Formats: sequence, structure tokens, C-alpha cells
Amino acid sequence: MTVYQPDMSLKAKIKRRITPFMARRVIKPQLERPIVSFSFDDCPKSVIENAIKPLERENWRATIYIAMGLCGIENHLGLHMDADDVTALYAGGHEIGDHTFDHIDAAQNSASIFMGDIDKNQSALNAIGLPPSETFAYPYGQVTTELKLKLASKFLGSRGIRSRESTDDVDLNQIRSNRLYAGQDFDTLMEQIKRISDKPGWLPIFTHDIRDNPSPFGCTPQQMLHVIDAIKSSGAEVLTMVEAIKKMELTHEAG
Ligand SMILES: [Zn+2]
Repeated sequence: MTVYQPDMSLKAKIKRRITPFMARRVIKPQLERPIVSFSFDDCPKSVIENAIKPLERENWRATIYIAMGLCGIENHLGLHMDADDVTALYAGGHEIGDHTFDHIDAAQNSASIFMGDIDKNQSALNAIGLPPSETFAYPYGQVTTELKLKLASKFLGSRGIRSRESTDDVDLNQIRSNRLYAGQDFDTLMEQIKRISDKPGWLPIFTHDIRDNPSPFGCTPQQMLHVIDAIKSSGAEVLTMVEAIKKMELTHEAG
């Protein structure tokens, strides 16, 4: 397997700085109670045991961004989910979001290839009995202005990876999200959860593998439990990405 490399040219770096300001679809949620949304990208098997089960014990549900081309593969995130896992997650009330079929980089593929890969993923999900996905997450967090526009008519929201404060406005075409990673990002996230009640907003969280020796893109089972406890203390409501967006759009229209 080839190892993924983002385009590190100056042009690509400048584009990554500009894209968040382009083709925005902004809502300004007016929330009385903060909302937290968990999303798990790619879904290595360790997520099911070490994140989904503890969340279900709280009667909470998550969003899982599935790239069906990753079924059963093993990489730096560990062994991945299979189709049966995806149907079981859906049956358990979790949201299954789209993440392209082959987990491709938006900035290194044409828009038509990228959209075709999303359609391929949707067909694969449909073939195992799932409805069309309502939200999307950009693989590697790579986004283009052209795709932000195209995805706006296909999904209620598309999630990126840039960290955000919970009180910010929300660009539904590139939703900022906070890392639940084992490194120094972990303390940042815990601080954000502590502050979330001060000015209620939306705190989307994402991660990958959850195991004792996680990759740099995941966290430990213990850290997952700490986050759950902190959210319980904060009084925030835990909703899937699509539930949170629908709720915020209502408050946006009312406000
Ligand atoms: Zn991914």
C-alpha cells in the first residue's frame, strides 16, 4: 500500500488557507444547551469495542464516516470494519456518513473523480441496505472550493478537520471539528469541553483508532472514557452530526 502524502507545494498550502473562506454556507446556532457530536473516521474495529459500546451505555449515538473501500483492510490504524459492522452500527441507531469509497484526497483528484467515488460509496452502502448518507467527511480533511459547492446540494453538512471553538459560526460546507487524539490535542479538547457550558455552542469531535497503543490519529480507551465523563459533567447533549445540524438549522431560522 502506498503511504498517503498531502500536496506540500506552496500553491497547495495557500489553497488550504483560503478554502475555509470560500463557498461558505454559514449558520449561527442559538443554543440553550451545548451539543457534542462524536465522529469516527474510517472505523477501525477498535472503535466499535472501545468507543461505540461505552457511548451506547450512555444511550448516546455517533456518526461513523465510512469509506467502503476500506472494508477489512489493515493499516496504521489497525484492522478496519467490515460490511456486517456497518450494518450493525446503522441498526444500532448510529449515523453512517460518506467518506468516499477509496478514501481519496479532494485536492489531488479532479472534482469528477471525487464525486464519482462518492457515488460509488453510496452504491456500496445502498447494496447493504443503508439509506443515502446525509453528511460527509473529507478524507484527510482536504477540501476544495469547487467541491464545497458541489457537496452543498448533496449533503446537509460536510465535515473538515480544522479545530474550532464551540461558539463559532458553522460553515456547513466545511465543518470544523476537534481532534480526540492522544497527544497534546487531548488537553485542548478537555479544556474545550470544560468551557462548553459558558456559551453553549456545538463541539464536533473526531478521531480514528481507539486502543492501548493508538496511532498519532487516535486515542486510548481510557481517554475515550475521560471524554465521556467530562461531557456528562458539562450537561451537553450528545447528538449525531446530522441530528445536530437539523437542530441548529431550526434555531438558526428562529433566531
Ligand atoms: Zn478518513
